[in-house]
Amino acid sequence: MSLKIAIQKSGRLHDDSLKLLNDCGLGVKNGHNQLKSNAENFAAEVYFLRDDDIPQYVEDGVAHIGFVGENVLYEKNRSVDIVERVGFGKCRLSIAVGKNEDYTGPAYLDGKKIATSYPFLTQKFLTENGVNAEIHEISGSVELAPGIGLADAVCDLVSSGSTLFMNGLKEVQPILQSQAVLIKTKELQPDQQKLLDQLVFRIRSVRKAKRYKYVLLNAPNDALETVISLLPGMRSPTVLPLAESGWSSVHSVIEEDAFWTKIEQLKAAGAEGILVVPIEKMIM
Ligand code: ATP
Ligand code: ZN
Repeated sequence: MSLKIAIQKSGRLHDDSLKLLNDCGLGVKNGHNQLKSNAENFAAEVYFLRDDDIPQYVEDGVAHIGFVGENVLYEKNRSVDIVERVGFGKCRLSIAVGKNEDYTGPAYLDGKKIATSYPFLTQKFLTENGVNAEIHEISGSVELAPGIGLADAVCDLVSSGSTLFMNGLKEVQPILQSQAVLIKTKELQPDQQKLLDQLVFRIRSVRKAKRYKYVLLNAPNDALETVISLLPGMRSPTVLPLAESGWSSVHSVIEEDAFWTKIEQLKAAGAEGILVVPIEKMIM
């Protein structure tokens, strides 16, 4: 009994999906020129597929779980469950028009021709906004379509917008914010569900650890109260006496977002010799 995991064979989600599995200790070798690979340290096999095929494989149960972008998942509209958002592959699906066009809102698109690889999501947006436009489905290099007279607008993935810009287009209307998600098939056997639960627990530990840092610092004893209040830690910070009397060493964890403001406050409170180190796994 093993868990069959689908990830993108090559492309933007491949490296992050594989790295996440390996940060979770699965021991999966790279899949270039390979259809599947067995995990060395976990009852799992990894299938390397085109991202477009992953929702269907998971719906059919050929793969039990998979990593795929929400953009592809919602476009394919397959019946699977989302287990977890995994934070990589962030992008948005947006409508773009010629850079000199005056886009005033969805009504601008009435009677226009829109090139896209996402006909389902594009049509959904048009219908929701009561717009009648013609969708021209193409599978790649969508941003070239207006330039060669194939369409008036495009609906495509954007992250920085530089590809659009180079093709004389500008983003005017985001229709979906997307990131990679872990999906699962509807019917999992209890043994497979158990493996998935273990994997999800590990994924959460790995992702949580990335958001936190381990902090070590020295503080005069009369500043300890303030320092401790700034560093609540997982339960409470560790405080150890230094060899020099009147001083202590304080160890704790700190959230990345709050990091710089906290460091300023710690320094102001009298903390010295502040060390900040990454955390690999974090089990609460
Ligand atoms: P495949 O050969 O597997 O069909 P593809 O060409 O369709 O690959 P990629 O370009 O590798 O797809 O993108 C895969 C996914 O990565 C997209 O569906 C999207 O979820 C995400 N993605 C797309 N563009 C970006 C970007 N600029 N930054 C981050 N993630 C992105
Ligand atoms: Zn694809």
